[in-house]
Amino acid sequence: MSRVYNFSAGPAVLPEEVLQEAAAEMMDYRGTGMSVMEMSHRSKAFDDIIKEAEQDLRDLLHIPDNYKVLFLQGGASQQFAAIPMNLMKNGVADYIITGQWAKKAYQEAQKYGKAVAVASSEDETFSYIPDCSDLPIDEDADYVYICENNTIYGTKFKTLPNTKGKILVSDVSSCFLAEPHDVEKYGILYGGVQKNIGPAGVVISIIREDLITDDVNPATPTMLKFKTQADKDSLYNTPPCYAIYICGKVFKWLKKMGGLEVMAAKNEEKAKILYDFLDQSKMFRGTVRKEDRSVMNVPFVTGDKDLDAKFVAEAAKAGLVNLKGHRSVGGMRASIYNAMPKEGVEKLVSFMKEFEEANA
Ligand SMILES: *Cc1c(COP(=O)(O)O)cnc(C)c1O
Repeated sequence: MSRVYNFSAGPAVLPEEVLQEAAAEMMDYRGTGMSVMEMSHRSKAFDDIIKEAEQDLRDLLHIPDNYKVLFLQGGASQQFAAIPMNLMKNGVADYIITGQWAKKAYQEAQKYGKAVAVASSEDETFSYIPDCSDLPIDEDADYVYICENNTIYGTKFKTLPNTKGKILVSDVSSCFLAEPHDVEKYGILYGGVQKNIGPAGVVISIIREDLITDDVNPATPTMLKFKTQADKDSLYNTPPCYAIYICGKVFKWLKKMGGLEVMAAKNEEKAKILYDFLDQSKMFRGTVRKEDRSVMNVPFVTGDKDLDAKFVAEAAKAGLVNLKGHRSVGGMRASIYNAMPKEGVEKLVSFMKEFEEANA
C-alpha cells in the first residue's frame, strides 16, 4: 500500500484511521453480517449510526437545542436554491460576493426573489474579504449570505459581517469543523462534507428551528423544504447512509484528537509552515491579502505558467498530488484540511525549497 499526500480541494483527504476502521467493518458491520452500504436506512444499526453522528457533531460544535441538524443530499449547490426558497418571505436577500461559490449562490437566489450584492471582491479577483462592518443591508432582507471560506481563492472571513440584525446564512463547506463555530451567530450554517469532513454525497445543515416552517415559496420541491427533512430527522427518503457513517467516524476522530480548539491550533500551525515559506520565497508567492488568508486552502504562484506546470508535475512524482490551482486562478493550491498531517505540509515545503533551488 502506498498513500500519497493529497492536497485536493475536494473530495479530499480523510483520516487514515477512519479509512482503516471502515475497511475493517466493510464485510461485517459489528455482527450484522453486512456492510453499512447494504443496510436498510430503517434498521436499528443505521438508526444508531445517524443518531450517534448527530450527537457527536452536537458535542463538537456545542450546537444549542434550538438548532436542527440535517443530513441532506444534492451538494452545497442545491442549497443555493433551497435557502432562498425556504427563507425568502419578503423576497429580498443580501449576498456578499467573495468568490465563485458565493456568486453562484447569489445568481441562483435571483430566480426566487431580489438578491442584492451588497459587497464584492470581484474587482481584485476575489483576493480579499471586503469590509463588512457597515454594509447597506436592506431593511427587508430576509437574510445575509456569505461563503465563509473561499475554497478556490483561499480567503476566509476572520470576523463575521455586521448583518444589522438580519439572519446570517453561511456556506462553511471548506472550513466546516476546522475550528470552533459559534453556532448562535448563524441562522443557517451548512456545507458539503466532501471538503473537510467526509465522502461526497452529504450536506450538513445546521438550522435555527424558527427558520424551519411551512411558510416557504409555494414552488419549493418537497425534498428541498427544510421542514420535510426536519420532521423526519433526515430520513424522509433514503439518505446517503454510507457517507453519513463515514462522517460519524470523522466526528469520533475529531473528538479523540481533542475537539475543535485543538484542530484549530493544529490547522494554524500547519498553515503557518506554508505561509512562512511563501513569504520569504523568491520564486513562490501567495495570491491573497495576508489578513484574509485561509488556513484550509492556500493558493500560490510562481508567476510563470510553465514553471507552475513543471512544479505540479514534479510534486506529483514526489507523492504530493492535486496541487494544481483551480482553473479560474491558475498556479497552485494546497488544500490542507483537518486530515492532512503536519508531515504532509512539511514535505511540501521542503519540496518547494528544493524546486526553488533547482530552478533558480
Ligand atoms: C465545493 C464547494 C461548493 C459546491 O459543493 P457541491 O457539494 O459540489 O455542490 C460550495 N461551496 C463551497 C465553499 C465549496 O467549497
